[in-house]
Parts: sequence; structure tokens; C-alpha cells
Amino acid sequence: MRKNLLLLEELQELDLKVDGRQGERQVLTDQVAELDRQVEEVRLSVEVKKGDLALLEQERQGLEANLATEEDNIVRSEARQKEIKTQKEYQAVVKEVTAARKLKAELEEQILQKSAQIEELTADIATRQEELNSLEENMSSRKAEVQAGIDRLDQEIAADAASKETISKAIPASLLKRYVALRERRQGIAIVAARAGNCAGCHMNLPPQLYNSLFRSDDLILCPHCQRMLILHQES
Ligand SMILES: [Zn+2]
Repeated sequence: MRKNLLLLEELQELDLKVDGRQGERQVLTDQVAELDRQVEEVRLSVEVKKGDLALLEQERQGLEANLATEEDNIVRSEARQKEIKTQKEYQAVVKEVTAARKLKAELEEQILQKSAQIEELTADIATRQEELNSLEENMSSRKAEVQAGIDRLDQEIAADAASKETISKAIPASLLKRYVALRERRQGIAIVAARAGNCAGCHMNLPPQLYNSLFRSDDLILCPHCQRMLILHQES
């Protein structure tokens, strides 16, 4: 049994190393996600502004169409003026033309305002697009660094997995199964040292009779407090 327990100890050391690396890997994976999120946030804000710009341009087109209509109206009314026979008709047309010119001036003013807004927003978008480009560049090099860390961890985890397999093959299957189940229930620690009458897992005193039996028998002995497997390590 002692030989198997020593193997389990070795296996547990590897398992804990892998747990640590998985933890580090998770941190790095989260960092990559965070970098992506930051870029995405700026990209979205640029998209929103582009949408606003498209809307403004659409509005300006509408105003320009109205302006063209008013200009047509003026031309048509002025053409009609030449064929008018009565004073009453003449006055009506003059009124039409005056109203159309007033509308035309208002539309021209609105178009100017819209154009100014468009110009401002276009400049704003260009600035933000530049910011986005440099952010993307910056982030992609940072991401490459983090990814290199992830790749390195993956290699180490794969190497550990190979070592684990070699050790696991030398341990009886039923004991290995117990070890795996215990590790799940006991925060990754299934086998602990019994030293100076104490359990190194839960730091409780072991009953003297049980502690003594660790010296005498070669059976599997569990800590009565934390149920972990005990392996005798005498003080050096
Ligand atoms: Zn214990």
C-alpha cells in the first residue's frame, strides 16, 4: 500500500500543478475576452455614429427634394404669370411665388444646418475610427502576448497529462477511483501526510491508536476527521 500511496502523492502533486495552470489559463482567457470587449465597445460606438450620420444624410436628401419641388413651383408660377389676364389671378400667383420663396429660404437654411451637423459628425467619426484602428492594433499585439501564455500553459498541461497517465497506470484502478472521488470532495487534496500525530490535511490530532497503526499496518487508513488518505511521513 505504501508504494501506491507514494504514487498517489506524486499524482496529486501533478494534479495540483495542473489545477494551478488551469486557473492561470482561465485568468488569461478572461483577459483575452476583456480585450475583445474593449475593442467591441469602441467599434459599436463608431457604428452608432455611422448610423446617426446615415440618418442625417437621409434627412438632408429629404430637404433637398423639398427644395427642388419649391424651385419647380416658383418656375411654374413665374411662367404662368406671363399668361395671366386678370389682376385677381395675378395677385394670387404673386402670393404663391412669395410663399414658395419663403419656404425655399427656410429649406436652404435647414440644409445648411444639416450639412454643418454632417460635417461635424463626419470629422468625429474619422477621429474615432483612427482611435479604433490604433486600439485594434494595440489590442491584437497584447492579445498575441496573452495567447502565447495560453499556448505555453497548454503545452505544460499536456506534458503533465502524459506524466499523470504514466503514474496512474501503476496505481490499482479501485484506489485511483477513490482518490479521484476524494479529491473532488476535498478541495483537490485526497492524500495527506500524517506527521507527529497530526493530519496535515485538517491539522487535527489523530487518535494515538490510529496513528500507531500507520507504523504497523500496510492498510489504507483515512483521517477520521477529514476522511483523506493518510501517508506516514516521519519527522526528518
Ligand atoms: Zn484530516
